[in-house]
Amino acid sequence: MADNSALVANHYNARPERGIDVRQESVILSLKNFNNWVKAVLIGRYARPGARAFDMCCGKGGDLQKWKRQDVSRLVGIDIAAVSVDQARARYEQSCRRFFPAAFHAADCFSPVIQDIIAGEEFDIVSIQFSLHYSFETEAKARAAIRNVASNLRSGGFFVGTIPNADWIYKRLVHTDGLEFGNSIYAIKFDTKTPSLFGHRYRFTLADAIDDCPEYLINFSTLSSIAAEHGLRPVLWKTFHQFYRDECIEHFDMLQRMRVFNAQGTVSGDEWEAAGIYSVFAFEKT
Ligand code: SAM
Repeated sequence: MADNSALVANHYNARPERGIDVRQESVILSLKNFNNWVKAVLIGRYARPGARAFDMCCGKGGDLQKWKRQDVSRLVGIDIAAVSVDQARARYEQSCRRFFPAAFHAADCFSPVIQDIIAGEEFDIVSIQFSLHYSFETEAKARAAIRNVASNLRSGGFFVGTIPNADWIYKRLVHTDGLEFGNSIYAIKFDTKTPSLFGHRYRFTLADAIDDCPEYLINFSTLSSIAAEHGLRPVLWKTFHQFYRDECIEHFDMLQRMRVFNAQGTVSGDEWEAAGIYSVFAFEKT
């Protein structure tokens, strides 16, 4: 495992699972609920009932209820952080086992080892939420990640995810005097302003969620051209703000049910700015 993969795995392994009561007290409760809403709408749109799903970088299983809601027929969840994978498996046993079969593995999703783990499986949807940017540390990792996505995705299947929007982040960096910017809930610190397609590193902090973890800009054109080599064509690319504007009416009930509007109010100005860091994407395998 290369240095930064170990660092990222250790970072997520070290984050304790907090009970639902503690989660409700988070200073970014509304933002977390909003991010979950975005993922639920995205997964809801592209995962058909009976879909066979691959949740790459599944973390602690934060999307299990979304897969259950879509009535998937099979789920494979893989994450590099073994502690998180144990938590995902435990959550699955508790609330999803009766609804669909699933398998969880601790492994590096940006390495060829995944090919052995998923050998013989065919998926209708591959989802990678808030994670693909870690693979853009090197071209080799980014290419291995996309190969792992595409190799077992059926033709007509979808590859969906959420990633930081490099255009927005880089624009902010260029208009900043130093190498850092942020607000009361997030901070982004770059090593350099010199752009590069791979390995353009920054350290990201998000209150209550991520502590100074290395991440990498993903240029969407670069992602699209690697994806195209595997027969994946882009069908969706929107910032979270645009996605909200386009989906909020149709999915208003879900906004309420997922407590984007809650006892604390709703997404604050600083949370809204942090939400704007991200974009949603979907590719279809042709
Ligand atoms: N997808 C989950 C979600 O939306 O709740 C977790 C998102 S969390 C921000 C990022 C996840 O990416 C962590 O669980 C981390 O362990 C995982 N990750 C980072 N690098 C990885 C790699 N090389 N292989 C597999 N998982 C990785």
